[in-house]
Amino acid sequence: MALLELRNVIRRFGDFTAVDNVSLSIEAGEFFTLLGPSGCGKTTLLRMIAGFDVPDSGQIFLDGQDIANTLPEKRPVHTVFQSYALFPHMTVTDNVAFPLKMSKVAPAEIKKRVEKALEEVQLPKFAHRFPHELSGGQKQRVAFARGLINRPRLLLMDEPLGALDAKLREDMQRELISLQKEVGITFIFVTHSQDEALALSQRIAVMNLGKVEQIGTPSVIYGTPANRFIADFIGKINLMEAQVTQISNTAMTLEINGLGTTVLPPKKEIQAGDQGVIAIRPEQVAVHALAKQAEIPHAHTGKVLDFLYVGDVTTYVIELDSGIQIEALLANSSPGRARFFEVDDPVIVSWPQEAAQFLVDRP
Ligand code: ATP
Repeated sequence: MALLELRNVIRRFGDFTAVDNVSLSIEAGEFFTLLGPSGCGKTTLLRMIAGFDVPDSGQIFLDGQDIANTLPEKRPVHTVFQSYALFPHMTVTDNVAFPLKMSKVAPAEIKKRVEKALEEVQLPKFAHRFPHELSGGQKQRVAFARGLINRPRLLLMDEPLGALDAKLREDMQRELISLQKEVGITFIFVTHSQDEALALSQRIAVMNLGKVEQIGTPSVIYGTPANRFIADFIGKINLMEAQVTQISNTAMTLEINGLGTTVLPPKKEIQAGDQGVIAIRPEQVAVHALAKQAEIPHAHTGKVLDFLYVGDVTTYVIELDSGIQIEALLANSSPGRARFFEVDDPVIVSWPQEAAQFLVDRP
């Protein structure tokens, strides 16, 4: 049985549907992320799991029990917010001990558990400091320790790393992964950052306009996005408008606007005439100097329009003869090599046929 199950959950504000018929289940011990652009309904969904808000219809089961009528403080669920929500007049120890004091746990037991919790988040040395004497990352660790001290069944986190700078955020992501492994508690993490979702999660639910569009492991979401929205939202990708011209049991022939035909393996429920996009990740695109053209299958000629060197990789924007622009990501693996091509260099681009995916547009 799943630890948490949402069945057809709907939440409306006036005539606006913020959460639109969401069903999903989360297993005990998972690191599960709700990912989507601002306003897609992530926080509203999280608030209903926590009990701060109620669905207009649908059900939420925790350990098989419908928790619709359970008050937030009676749910074995704790929420960590981006704003830390620490008590400013209390020390780190007292902040972390607070939920245990509320539950009237014996002082000796509180002391033992707070010490353990501070060790889990690597903060024993800061036990006597006040929140204003801590960095953002340290404050968020205190919030995690307070969230875990009562050993909830679910720890909900709403953009908890959102206020931290990039480097600290990366460190905290690593710490969160090991913390979750150590404590074994189910984490539901909300973010609009696709990098963060890919880095942290065992599974991701991608949301858009109140609906869950795809649920899967990071590699499935990145490697086989279910539709144009997800392909575009997760990582960088080249999308080229295309139409299915022929389909058989063994092959699907497509006309890519401005690039001619291509043949891919057939996909279920696709018919001749269907419109959509061909999607190819920039790291799948190869770029060659013009002279090699004869040897390369499925090659397209063009010229370098622009490039962005960022140390380990260079992203090239290439304009093909048909006017289509394609991005290619090349690793700068040789020491000291800054780039392979200059602006205006004539080049050939190609990609393995199997790297291209057709994503059909459905109304
Ligand atoms: P963000 O990443 O910006 O926090 P989100 O995906 O968490 O976005 P929600 O906060 O769940 O989005 O909001 C979803 C939509 O519902 C938004 O359009 C928001 O304006 C609307 N909304 C949320 N709460 C209310 C409310 N109490 N009354 C009216 N509309 C609301």
